[in-house]
Amino acid sequence: MGRRRQPYHNIYTLEGLSLHKLALQLQDHLNPNGFDNASVSSVSDYHNLTSSGCGREPSTTSGPIVPLKRTLQERVVETESCYFCGYGHTTIGNINPDTIIFCNQCERPCHIKCYNNRVVKKKVPLEILKEYMCFHFLCCQECQSLRARLEEGLEKCVGITFLRRIRSNICWRLLSGMDASRDVKLYMPQVIDIFKDAFMDSTDEHSDIISDMVNGDQEKDFRGMYCALLTASTHVVSAAILKVRIEQIAELVLIATRSECRKKGYFILLLKSIEANLRAWNVSLLTAPVDPEMAQIWSEKLGFTILSAEEKESMLESHPLVMFKNLVLVQKSLA
Ligand SMILES: [Zn+2]
Ligand SMILES: [Zn+2]
Ligand SMILES: [Zn+2]
Repeated sequence: MGRRRQPYHNIYTLEGLSLHKLALQLQDHLNPNGFDNASVSSVSDYHNLTSSGCGREPSTTSGPIVPLKRTLQERVVETESCYFCGYGHTTIGNINPDTIIFCNQCERPCHIKCYNNRVVKKKVPLEILKEYMCFHFLCCQECQSLRARLEEGLEKCVGITFLRRIRSNICWRLLSGMDASRDVKLYMPQVIDIFKDAFMDSTDEHSDIISDMVNGDQEKDFRGMYCALLTASTHVVSAAILKVRIEQIAELVLIATRSECRKKGYFILLLKSIEANLRAWNVSLLTAPVDPEMAQIWSEKLGFTILSAEEKESMLESHPLVMFKNLVLVQKSLA
């Protein structure tokens, strides 16, 4: 698949269904007159899942949503040796060629001198530090090209389908909380509410973590988080936090649907849109932390593989994934 963004008609899911067709099924499903069980079976199959994203919902639709707790699991601490030379020698307290700095895309540590050894246009240490502070220090060509692909997708509104019932376009949007754009100001507060509603007790003292992730908080090291959204006019219907550090792996940190929009197929449409965009960016693997009781559905209905405890452990050792306590890690190959 090419790297350019393609019309949804031409983006196919692994099951051979175009996103456009999937969206049309959603439309049929949402339109009571056009409702036809046979034509929406592939969407309605996911009712149990879409009811809650990663979460769950009581069997009575009128009942309250049971919030699921998300407590961040501490990262496996990597030894901070330079990705290029393999040595950890560095200077502390002043900035010079021996200083180790982290790439703002792949997050790998690298000596300033090792970076300069590999590029034609050398930079003085202070310039590199400045780039790092602005989140623009990219250690190599692959990181530059991945960042360019991600930024190309930012802030664009891609219409997926027009829903007659609500007389509105359903659009795909990718936003970065680090931007101060109008879209970010309009949609991010809604995204935070959707996630808090799905994953947090209102009394939870750690509930700030959601807004920190959505906003790409610098101090908590949540820079590089993107929000993937389905919107209808000015409303967010479904949202996900997505992190793409390297081509080899992308993380679906959180995904949820606005409570009054659940059971309508938005979850599966957002997930398929995310997968299609990741494929277009040449990303080969998608991982997601999910609740143990939901893992089977992710495996049986959505084509994900459940990692064993040992596999999860070794995955977290080789990749600094955002992981929550007591959750299961699932993955899906996009290649
Ligand atoms: Zn080095
Ligand atoms: Zn890098
Ligand atoms: Zn790199």
